[in-house]
Amino acid sequence: MRYSALSLAWNAATGHRFWKPAWRDAEPKPAYDVVIVGGGGHGLATAFYLAKNHGVRRIAVVEKGWIGNGSVGRNTTIIRSNYLHPANTRFYEFSMKLWEGLEQALNYNVMVSQRSILNVFHSDAQRDAYARRGNAMRIAGVDAELLDTDGVRKRYPFFDFDNARFPIRGGLLQPRGGTVRHDAVAWGYARAASDLGVDIIQNAEVVGIDIQGGRAVAVETTRGRITADRIGISVAGHTSHVAAMAGLVLPIESHVIQAFVTEAVKPLISGVVTFGAGHFYISQSDKGGLVFGGDIDGYGSYAGRGNLPVAEDVAEGGMALMPAIGRLRILRNWGGVVDMTPDGSPFIDLTPVQNLYLNGGWNYGGFKATPAAGWTFAHLLATGQSHELAAAYRLDRHATGRVIDENGQGAQPNLH
Ligand SMILES: Cc1cc2nc3c(=O)[nH]c(=O)nc-3n(C[C@H](O)[C@H](O)[C@H](O)COP(=O)(O)OP(=O)(O)OC[C@H]3O[C@@H](n4cnc5c(N)ncnc54)[C@H](O)[C@@H]3O)c2cc1C
Repeated sequence: MRYSALSLAWNAATGHRFWKPAWRDAEPKPAYDVVIVGGGGHGLATAFYLAKNHGVRRIAVVEKGWIGNGSVGRNTTIIRSNYLHPANTRFYEFSMKLWEGLEQALNYNVMVSQRSILNVFHSDAQRDAYARRGNAMRIAGVDAELLDTDGVRKRYPFFDFDNARFPIRGGLLQPRGGTVRHDAVAWGYARAASDLGVDIIQNAEVVGIDIQGGRAVAVETTRGRITADRIGISVAGHTSHVAAMAGLVLPIESHVIQAFVTEAVKPLISGVVTFGAGHFYISQSDKGGLVFGGDIDGYGSYAGRGNLPVAEDVAEGGMALMPAIGRLRILRNWGGVVDMTPDGSPFIDLTPVQNLYLNGGWNYGGFKATPAAGWTFAHLLATGQSHELAAAYRLDRHATGRVIDENGQGAQPNLH
């Protein structure tokens, strides 16, 4: 059923009795052309673009839980394309353009809200670094504006501009950055993929990958064996675990990262803001809660919640930026598992096992990449060739020295 004003009116007039489920909860078939392991945003987007852009018809997405249970439904919903490295700028700007047309492409309201993102800076050296990043963005055709202190004050008069340690000297603004309703992205892609014939198989954990003569030929799941011509791994925080089923050891660590939401208040923060002297970022949800987060917990984990030292660190960042936040109560807090790489950039590539493909290593920021990751991973699965926009996200780049260290931080996952 196509969603439209007409269908809304008709369903309202008939007592909402005839809405159909948004997607088919499919039973596994014995064989497919492509099996995608992982029904997060990336796996579902990949399935959608495989069917839509490449005409592949026999596709299964195999998900161990339910659609939306992973990081796609746990993240803090920020989208942006304010990168410095050309490989990243091009990729994330492509993603931004896909976000801008996504609701029409999916016929689904994913609540894309381009409310802006502001990176606040606190010193002359930091201003220079942000000016450089802003210039790189503009050269690549991405929107960027450098604000001085007054420019920031106009938007956020309640920030602590004269903080003794971290005075606010200005900020780098990307007006087209913003937020998207995270779980709606999973639902929207699931619905659109299902409409194109993709089987979405929930509650089916992949527990083994069958390799014969160097080729991946099937996945063993808790709902039976499924053979496939091509298998794509897209399991985010569980990437190294699933890749190990094929004998692969990847430069990826799984860490927990937390999110926090306060009680609802009237509109206060119009865009997304990041603090520049620590890891703290914040926005306000449409329901009024302030949504914020910071660093990963810093130890390997698959837990759905984190620990107090990071909660304290995040709260300190919030207090330094806007002391008024101390008067609000945190209502909810949870964790999600992220797949951290040494240089902070992802992988979309072939693996040494034939017919086995990988999309992973998204660190802090894979949500904003969802449309572009799906688009380019689908291209790789359909053609066997890297899409030009993802060609730098090679699995062997740490061996060849072609790392994409966006922040120039070296091999320390939490700093990317
Ligand atoms: C608290 C938090 C805040 C974040 N904030 C942002 C943000 O503001 N902006 C941003 O860009 N990014 C953010 N991220 C990162 C972003 O959410 C992730 O990078 C992205 O969602 C990962 O891709 P995905 O949606 O496909 O992952 P997931 O939704 O985790 O999908 C992977 C799926 O694979 C499934 N799976 C795992 N193992 C198996 C198996 N063996 N068999 C079958 N299925 C399996 C899982 O159940 C899961 O559903 C945040 C993450 C967290 C946790």
